Amino acid sequence: MSLRVVFLGTSGAIPTLKRSLPAVLVHRGNEQLLFDCGEGVQRQMIRAKVGFHKKMKVFLSHLHGDHVLGLPGLLQTMALMDRTRKLEVYGPEGVAAFLTCVSETLRFGLTFQVEVHEVHAAGEVCSENGYAVEAAWANHVTPTLAYSFLENPRPGKFYPEKATLLGVPKGLLWSKLQHGESVDLVNGRMVKPEEVSGQARRGRKIIYSGDTRPFKGFAKFAARADLVVHEATFDDALVEKAELDGHSTPSQAGLQAKRAKAKMLVLTHVSARYADAGLLLEQAKKVFPNAIVAEDLMVLELPLGE
Ligand SMILES: [Zn+2]
Ligand SMILES: [Zn+2]
Repeated sequence: MSLRVVFLGTSGAIPTLKRSLPAVLVHRGNEQLLFDCGEGVQRQMIRAKVGFHKKMKVFLSHLHGDHVLGLPGLLQTMALMDRTRKLEVYGPEGVAAFLTCVSETLRFGLTFQVEVHEVHAAGEVCSENGYAVEAAWANHVTPTLAYSFLENPRPGKFYPEKATLLGVPKGLLWSKLQHGESVDLVNGRMVKPEEVSGQARRGRKIIYSGDTRPFKGFAKFAARADLVVHEATFDDALVEKAELDGHSTPSQAGLQAKRAKAKMLVLTHVSARYADAGLLLEQAKKVFPNAIVAEDLMVLELPLGE
């Protein structure tokens, strides 16, 4: 199953010539999960060629304009493109009222159902065939959720020689064992998947921090993530401003990723004051070497682990 992360918007607060407002699209197989929905997100989706008709869930971190004002436009564009599939929206309290207010005042006729789920507590917010999304309370200036996307574990590596040795004929029975099912042989013996395969392999994990100061519990929430997408609005010299405004600096984001034993860190929500994000990258790398700064339309493929 392919897993791709497309950074549609990487600016914080206001857009710049190079950066659109926050939106990170996780593309798993034929499904899309959109984390935050900054203005102009549908134009970024056109540029990224990701389509408007796929199964999609939107996860809003908090109700600040830079993270949600793209949603009305996205819904309108989808309706004009005759989307028929239901769209699900998750976010903190207030999301339902926001959408009701917009749809009543603008009266755009939607061609599809929008199902809103307000998240009132940390924990699992949805569980699908193959993955689940969990939320944790971040530490911003308004109620803000961080999200974790986690795939279900995969069956362990299959060893054909072990299956042959036990007398399992190649074909359908191999396939069943590979998918975690026990099989019965003609001689009456039952073969269990664990007899012919290694340990179950963990699924891929992606963390989206939302706007936040470094928060307690992040290391556990993001533990061993394949990818941590963390905001780094201001550079280290502005750590006091970051604290005041409820944001993080590159060193702080790096330390969070390090404590979580994450594999990779991507900084986003970059303040418009940085025309060149080199300084942010340098500061993060000192703490967490496998860090990069997101650019608009950057794509990361997350391969299946062994
Ligand atoms: Zn923001
Ligand atoms: Zn904010």
